[in-house]
Amino acid sequence: MNAQRRAGAIATLACLFAMLSTASAQAPEPDGAGVRQGTLPRSWPTSGPRCADKADFQVHAYNDDLYILRESGCSNYEKPFLYLIFGKEKALLLDTGAGQTDVDQVVNNVLQDWLRRNGRESIALVVAHTHAHGDHIAGDSQLRGLARATVVEPKPAAVQAFFALRNWPSETSTYDLGQRVLDIIPIPGHEPSSIAFYDRQTALLFTGDTLYAGRLYVADAAAFALSIQRLVDFTHGKIVAHILGNHIEQTRTPYMDYPVGTVYQPDEHPLELGRAHLLELNEAVREMNGKVQRKAFRDFTIWPH
Ligand SMILES: [Zn+2]
Ligand SMILES: [Zn+2]
Repeated sequence: MNAQRRAGAIATLACLFAMLSTASAQAPEPDGAGVRQGTLPRSWPTSGPRCADKADFQVHAYNDDLYILRESGCSNYEKPFLYLIFGKEKALLLDTGAGQTDVDQVVNNVLQDWLRRNGRESIALVVAHTHAHGDHIAGDSQLRGLARATVVEPKPAAVQAFFALRNWPSETSTYDLGQRVLDIIPIPGHEPSSIAFYDRQTALLFTGDTLYAGRLYVADAAAFALSIQRLVDFTHGKIVAHILGNHIEQTRTPYMDYPVGTVYQPDEHPLELGRAHLLELNEAVREMNGKVQRKAFRDFTIWPH
């Protein structure tokens, strides 16, 4: 190969690599990558300033088949988010909240609304969890009382069996709600039974307490690092519309979080994060190299636990 042809070949290769490396971040225009759209509210005014007139949950329709329930800080300062996702055959509820609430009634109201709108008599309800901490499972016994409800036990063995997760935590699996496939990704580290859900229809990634705009408590540093890398690998080449976790503890001011136990957060960070936050977290965890330190980042903080 002469010098000119070699230069040409190198240029072609460089161009190819450039295309490959950017391909994963691109989506064809103008159809939004075929992702089903939804909206998020500008704020979640669930917790005050006065508690007397606050319902236990704020219910937000992301679209007609996906609901976000935000628990009021007046019920429990953790103010967790719950997600209710509808397929043709099943509805899936992620988490049941913290403390004593009317979560079963709130979920049932959304279910009945959905059934009416869709001209249906009933739909099976699967209740699963992002992980087993108390502020995500407190309503389990109430949800068991709903018609056609199955509650997945929030224990690693039960979660693995229900979602057919083999070779935990390295292999992912899928779960079909009826023309709506979710990917299930094991992400232990915050808690031993932590899993993430990716909804192929909306390209939403649900990360529980493993990644959200707040304090990321790391219980098992080695497992956590592998889990974040697993999420990075899983999302590579996929569209990620939003990353949705289960709390908000950051303020809108970069690097600032609300003190633990804050009920009213009038200036809280938006719920939604993006894949760039996942990459930032991955870099941070890798640099900590097994020794988790308390450290503030722009949109989240890392805490050893
Ligand atoms: Zn947790
Ligand atoms: Zn939590």
